[in-house]
Parts: sequence; structure tokens; C-alpha cells
Amino acid sequence: MPKIEVDVERCKGCGYCLEACPQKILRLAEEFNSMGYHPVECFDPEKCTGCTFCAIMCPDLAIEVYK
Ligand code: SF4
Ligand code: SF4
Repeated sequence: MPKIEVDVERCKGCGYCLEACPQKILRLAEEFNSMGYHPVECFDPEKCTGCTFCAIMCPDLAIEVYK
């Protein structure tokens, strides 16, 4: 099953990946990372298709997609 892994310390919480995800399964976490940003999390991983749009959109290379 495809899945994503977010490097929470690289994420700046810009939200570009949220917009890019066709499945709309990404959101900003309530927690902060060490830089004070809310990192992205996937709240419904079962629905991830592995399309990689989120990873492509991320300017900070914070998302890896595994298929
Ligand atoms: S790989 Fe595609 S479906 Fe999965 S979280 Fe990223 S944009 Fe959404
Ligand atoms: S596009 Fe990258 S930096 Fe921006 S919220 Fe998504 S994972 Fe974080």
C-alpha cells in the first residue's frame, strides 16, 4: 500500500501539499516542530494513492512517497 512519510523537522507548514493532494487527506498537525511550525500529517493513510503530488509540491523536500 502506498504511503507518505513527512520529515516533520523540514516542514514549514506552508500548506502547498494540502492543496495538491487529490485525496484531501493531509492537514497541519496541532503539535509544533522545533522551528515552531505545524508540520503536515496524513489523517487517512488508507486513502493515499501514492500519486506523489504532495512530494512534488513541497519546496522543502519534506515528503517521501513509498509505493
Ligand atoms: S501521495 Fe498523493 S494521495 Fe498520497 S498524500 Fe500525497 S498527494 Fe495525497
Ligand atoms: S509543502 Fe512541504 S513544507 Fe509545505 S506544508 Fe507540505 S510538507 Fe510542509
